[in-house]
Amino acid sequence: HAKDDGKGVVRRFDPSRFAETAQRRKDENDLRRALAECQFEVHYQPIVDLQGNYTVGVEALVRWRHPLRGLLSPGDFIDLTESLGLMHRLGLWVLREACVQAVQWQREHPGFKLNVNLSATQLASPELTDEIRTVLTDTGMPADLLVLELTESAALTDLTESARVLDSLKSLGVRIALDDFGTGFSSLSHLGALPVDVVKIDKSFVQAMQETTANGSVAEAVLHIARTFNLSPVAEGVEDEVQAEMLRELACTQAQGYHFAKPMPASELTGLLTRQTTKVLQRR
Ligand code: C2E
Ligand code: MG
Ligand code: MG
Ligand code: MG
Repeated sequence: HAKDDGKGVVRRFDPSRFAETAQRRKDENDLRRALAECQFEVHYQPIVDLQGNYTVGVEALVRWRHPLRGLLSPGDFIDLTESLGLMHRLGLWVLREACVQAVQWQREHPGFKLNVNLSATQLASPELTDEIRTVLTDTGMPADLLVLELTESAALTDLTESARVLDSLKSLGVRIALDDFGTGFSSLSHLGALPVDVVKIDKSFVQAMQETTANGSVAEAVLHIARTFNLSPVAEGVEDEVQAEMLRELACTQAQGYHFAKPMPASELTGLLTRQTTKVLQRR
């Protein structure tokens, strides 16, 4: 299979390259079909009040129910979705699906909040604000109960532009959270420049809290910053009671993590909320 490209260089057939390309083409087809056939699901992870240990809302997290490979997490398909230019469409589907579901939960639990992740490509789209407005209107989702999560890297590439986009989103009445805070070369001055309401402390810093290294103090530092800028803190990736207790002592108000609950299908979350009814209602 070696061939001469005319410049005297012999290129050999590379079977591993070929297999890679073939696999990628197959993944692309799978993904396009998945969107067409709606093989995606939204799972929900509780966000809890750290003092009372009750659920105040959820974060929507997309899953792909692959016909052969089973339930896939974003790590397995988000990059491909982005590179195929399909992330905007998928993200909008997640938002709509999650809003329909949250409105159901709000009937029993008024004030129940919904967090939805936005990708950098969504943020870059000039249609985003109009699309979100349409979803809010169609689903009856109260804007002030919707929190849009974006990562620092997505928000901070072009500060002026980001501030403009976030202002436009905020004009809908929604709230904005900075996700994975502390991992994205954050500059503190950015926090003052952007209309952000919530900071989510990245799980790497929560999990480092028991260490004596400098990393062990980042969660505390982020909580100070949050207070300084009047932002609500949410700690991510809380996996045990020791971490939960340390966060309470640092006056962190809300948290999310396997210690409280893993992401789960809507039906399971409904069950969990039913068992917690009195506690959810307490917060009103
Ligand atoms: P994220 O927004 O920071 O979401 C939190 C991730 O941490 C989730 O992973 C969640 O399952 C995981 N997690 C929660 N509690 C714990 C814990 O106690 N320990 C550990 N080790 N992990 C925990 P998941 O669902 O795999 O999602 C990964 C990322 O994919 C998300 O990170 C988010 O950036 C992205 N993503 C998920 N759904 C969407 C979506 O609908 N749109 C966009 N644009 N991105 C999404
Ligand atoms: Mg998130
Ligand atoms: Mg995060
Ligand atoms: Mg993350």
